[in-house]
Amino acid sequence: METVFDVIVLGLGAMGSASTCHLARAGKRVLGLDRFTPPHVFGSSHGQTRIIREAYLEHPAYVPMIQRAYDLWHELESEAGRQLFLRTGGLMVGKPESAVVAGARRSAEEHGLRHEILSADEVKRRFPALAPQEEMIAVWEPRAGILFPEACVESHLALARRYGASLRFNEPVTRWEPDGDGVRVLTTDGVFISRRLVLAAGPWIRSLLFDVDLPFSVERQVQYWFEPCSNREQFNPERCPIHIWEHARGRFFYGFPDLGNGVKVALHHEGDLADPDKLRREVGPEEIESMRELLRSFLPQAGGALRSTAVCMYTNLPDHHFFIDPHPRHPQVLIVSPCSGHGFKFSSVVGEIVEELISKGSSRLDLSLFRRR
Ligand SMILES: Cc1cc2nc3c(=O)[nH]c(=O)nc-3n(C[C@H](O)[C@H](O)[C@H](O)COP(=O)(O)OP(=O)(O)OC[C@H]3O[C@@H](n4cnc5c(N)ncnc54)[C@H](O)[C@@H]3O)c2cc1C
Repeated sequence: METVFDVIVLGLGAMGSASTCHLARAGKRVLGLDRFTPPHVFGSSHGQTRIIREAYLEHPAYVPMIQRAYDLWHELESEAGRQLFLRTGGLMVGKPESAVVAGARRSAEEHGLRHEILSADEVKRRFPALAPQEEMIAVWEPRAGILFPEACVESHLALARRYGASLRFNEPVTRWEPDGDGVRVLTTDGVFISRRLVLAAGPWIRSLLFDVDLPFSVERQVQYWFEPCSNREQFNPERCPIHIWEHARGRFFYGFPDLGNGVKVALHHEGDLADPDKLRREVGPEEIESMRELLRSFLPQAGGALRSTAVCMYTNLPDHHFFIDPHPRHPQVLIVSPCSGHGFKFSSVVGEIVEELISKGSSRLDLSLFRRR
């Protein structure tokens, strides 16, 4: 079978589902392909919650992009008719010179964002579930909150279908190759011809870059849900914002309020290098214990019974930014890998960016951080 499309989107996780939606809305003939049935638990976009925040500690250049992402999440919510976002506010906690605090503060100041600087005592008074050390401070930002990733992916895919996209699930792509100015995509079930290809394969990206090596690496990450051991109400979303900690120099963890399934916490980085096809999904007792140790210090009432865990993958670049740029050898192929452990919140705007790059060759947003470098 050979069918001609304007665009094929390979991978329908966070980035691919949003791209498919925006491309179909713009009137493109789009085919979306996934090896599983998204949303699923085998890639990078599962685990009930993702943080969204505006005072972007990684770099102020992300702020205009996240602001557009917020608008698009709100639009998607109203189009899909379901809740995708919960505002809780957010705290970035660490020593004043830590990357988390100094980075969030810099973005807030450069972009004139609403924020407050709180002492450790103020944090404890306003948010009694959290116990920063005396020498720590926090940047409070009121717009931060939670996205529900599975619902976001589902909503983008449902709208993509409504706008006319063809979606094929449980159909792995085995190969793609240039076909004149276009591409030929081979799956386990067929062959598809398209003018353009979007590679949004998440942790599998490297296996789909047949003739070029880019420095992506995949990192195993564990998400934990603990039962609070006391004062459960202090973890309600009205009293407990999302929180990101630099608990020691260059070492991070983050957490969410209890949405009914326990308090979710996770380390940011420090995971083993992983092969996405052989990911270790069991979580060892020593991993659980080192998470409990952090809870004892910083969330002392959160460390009750362990309710569940979920293993997920980061696709990292050495500078921990994103990759959104054409394939170095095949300009008809766009590589879309916004991860490095912080990409989900941007997926709505990444969909729009992909549509702009495919339709016009440029985006209204500054993408210079995400180009091949
Ligand atoms: C534990 C964890 C916590 C995180 N927390 C946050 C957070 O709080 N905030 C935030 O903004 N970001 C966060 N992130 C990062 C964010 O989740 C990722 O940036 C995002 O999910 C990446 O989406 P993706 O579309 O690139 O990958 P995925 O969602 O994994 O999608 C890739 C898709 O490609 C498909 N695919 C792969 N190979 C093939 C093939 N050969 N044929 C067909 N289909 C294929 C896969 O099946 C998959 O569906 C977190 C990530 C993890 C792992």
